[in-house]
Amino acid sequence: MSEDLIRLTAAELADHLASGEVSSVEATQASLDRIHAVDGEVHAFLHVADKAALATAAEVDRRRAAGEELPSLAGVPIAVKDVMTTKDMPTTSGSKILEGWVPPYDATVVEHLRNHDMVLLGKTNMDEFAMGSSTEYSAYGPTHNPWDLDRIPGGSGGGSAAAVAAFEAPLATGSDTGGSIRFPAHVTGTVGVKPTYGQVSRWGAIALASSLDQMGPVARTVLDTALLHDVIKGHDPKDSTSINREWPSFADAVRQADLSGVRVGVIRQLTGEGFQAGVRARFNEAVTLLTKAGADVVEVDCPHIGSAVAAYYLILPAEASSNLARFDGVRYGRRVMPETGPETVENMMAATREAGFGPEVKRRIILGTYALSAGYYDQFYGQAQKVRTLIQRDFDAAFSQVDVLVSPTGPTTAFKLGAKVNDPLAMYLNDVATIPANLAGIPGMSVPMGRADEDGLPVGLQVLAPAMHDERLYTVAAVVERELTAAWGKPLLGFAPELKEASK
Ligand code: GLN
Repeated sequence: MSEDLIRLTAAELADHLASGEVSSVEATQASLDRIHAVDGEVHAFLHVADKAALATAAEVDRRRAAGEELPSLAGVPIAVKDVMTTKDMPTTSGSKILEGWVPPYDATVVEHLRNHDMVLLGKTNMDEFAMGSSTEYSAYGPTHNPWDLDRIPGGSGGGSAAAVAAFEAPLATGSDTGGSIRFPAHVTGTVGVKPTYGQVSRWGAIALASSLDQMGPVARTVLDTALLHDVIKGHDPKDSTSINREWPSFADAVRQADLSGVRVGVIRQLTGEGFQAGVRARFNEAVTLLTKAGADVVEVDCPHIGSAVAAYYLILPAEASSNLARFDGVRYGRRVMPETGPETVENMMAATREAGFGPEVKRRIILGTYALSAGYYDQFYGQAQKVRTLIQRDFDAAFSQVDVLVSPTGPTTAFKLGAKVNDPLAMYLNDVATIPANLAGIPGMSVPMGRADEDGLPVGLQVLAPAMHDERLYTVAAVVERELTAAWGKPLLGFAPELKEASK
């Protein structure tokens, strides 16, 4: 039974919970058993909250038995990316500088999960401060891709994607600054959404680059992603960039999905050179599928998209260097006293930051500080902001012709652990297709579109929509998922090899 429970989608599990067929304690125990059986190999989790999770589950079961009306995902387990603060669990953002820190408050996203009576299983691994595309920059060791344990699960949210792909949790949360939800979804055969900037609160999420960061849902199906998205979206007065308006139900968009007359634009600049042949092949088939399903497909140009990665790696380090200034050994987490020299506050801060930050974080702080320094500001940061505007205008022009845009989510399938870890530029290029959406603030999604011929590994279709129109992502992805699952005879994750379970 517990084997079956972990394979249920969140929507199915919610139905079983509502009908009383399954209890939340049973479902939660099944997830915890699975974590203890496989996470030694996968390493999706940095912290597992067995006791607290089972206590929440028991409380939900008790209230349900007492006849209380509960929210739709009540009692469903979820994993939380360690970038989000949690008042009863450590929060490290993948960094040694926050080792052992237990925040005094919950992030708004976490608050939403608790208010919806969801069961928090624990915190998932990530690249340090969400900088990276492979989860290898985590200070706590890499996460492994459940499809092939020698390969990366994507990043920075590799832990959340792997937890979901390995059936350790039906749902997870993520943060996407340049692709950290969508790229992991692409390489693990899962679904991930970066919402419109400002739709999901960033309050209590440890900031990487505040003008790019957006929290979002991670799941195995499009409907599950929508159900979680519906739980976490909404205005938050504590986040000054939070949008105050009503949003449609994304779950309804999935249930009513119909592509007739939908205008789909293929981004010409994201289909050719630099993309693995197997990725391009699956993408071309996905485009054919969209046409057959009734969409009007055309090619569109986004001429400045090729400059997105360069602009991003000036804007992101600039904002990150400022955001990370708060980690100084005075306020949070670790403090390291200088080994030599006088014990001044400055020397303590320098020793703390030297010991607490990893090489990628230091690289970006130096780059960002340089890009913002007097005399270089206009040349680097100012220039990058102009490029950002040009990319936004590309999207505005494209969306005057079409309803959604599509591309492959990433240029390649999951690469081997270690392959790019010492080559920052190669690492940065994994996000060529995802970064433009963050620069423009528009929503984007990755949905499985098959497996590459070269290595049998999953690849994702990226769908982009104009700001405020996240529901369009769900319309397109729901049809793609429905048609492809029917063609394959089972969901894509059904083709992943079984993980070896340690004896329980
Ligand atoms: N890989 C990108 C980076 O390293 C994206 C990170 C993210 O979305 N958090 O910055």
